[in-house]
Amino acid sequence: MSILAVGSIAYDSVETPFGVSENALGGSAVYFSMAASLFTRVRLVGVVGQDFQEGDVELLRQRGIDLRGLERAAGRTFRWSGRYGYDLNTRDTLDTQLNVFESFRPEIPPDFLDSRLLFLGNIDPLLQMDVLERVPGAELRACDTMNYWIRNQRADLERLLAQVNVLIVNDEEARQFTDTPNLFRAAVAIRRLGPAHLVIKKGEHGALLFAPDGIFVAPGLPLETIVDPTGAGDAFAGGLLGHLARCENLTPVEYRRAVVYGCVLGSFCVEAFGVERLTTLALWEVEERFELFLRLMRVEDPGPGLPREAVAGA
Ligand code: AMP
Repeated sequence: MSILAVGSIAYDSVETPFGVSENALGGSAVYFSMAASLFTRVRLVGVVGQDFQEGDVELLRQRGIDLRGLERAAGRTFRWSGRYGYDLNTRDTLDTQLNVFESFRPEIPPDFLDSRLLFLGNIDPLLQMDVLERVPGAELRACDTMNYWIRNQRADLERLLAQVNVLIVNDEEARQFTDTPNLFRAAVAIRRLGPAHLVIKKGEHGALLFAPDGIFVAPGLPLETIVDPTGAGDAFAGGLLGHLARCENLTPVEYRRAVVYGCVLGSFCVEAFGVERLTTLALWEVEERFELFLRLMRVEDPGPGLPREAVAGA
């Protein structure tokens, strides 16, 4: 099943304690699509400026991403820059230049209107709602958001949540949205607003799934090399929805597996700057790491073959 994805397409400048990257391809829709395209066909809807490089279009095309919804507008591509300290779970946004994104109204090609899976990346909730209304047949309607919209457009966000069935946010956003430090209470309050499935990402510590059948916890993979956390949340969403897109039945077990695939994609994303690791990633590597996650979660003896990291110091 194809996924229709809408969100930002950006040039990012990022500083981490391990290096700097300038004006590199990024944006929520790009990270999402690159991750999800490992599993299924992705129909990307977004806007870029005239400065958008042909090589970047080619990179997305090579991943089989359907670019008929890629609009090229007069002006410059959206730009974002951020800085991370040693705690890679928090970052400072240094600059946001909306550029062509400011007047973006997602145009959905007629061939995309039959999409049954929808990912509404982090953009203005009014635009997210607009897309939802134009694709009424979408059975799985997932969205992401961020502190900016929670603070400034809360009422719109609440109206959106009443119409989505999967919400993916991080722990800080869940707390901010419900004004409670307790994630369990936050989850109850958010699910009351609409989304039956709520996924709370916890950065390097994995993710929580609050679903009609109960709670599921997926760990973060202890990695030897973490270079740049940018986009990990969107890559997570790509892994999660990518897996659901290839399932015949969306059973509770598949949702739990999807959260683990989300953690797998997030873990690959952070291993290099920007989208670099995702450009070479193959599905067999994803499946191998998925198995590794399952083994890390086992209480019984998982047998031989654990990674070096897991037995370091043994
Ligand atoms: P993540 O690290 O998963 O939260 O996503 C980072 C990506 O979000 C970067 O590639 C940015 O270009 C993009 N981004 C940052 N701020 C915004 C914003 N206000 N609206 C849309 N996308 C954004």
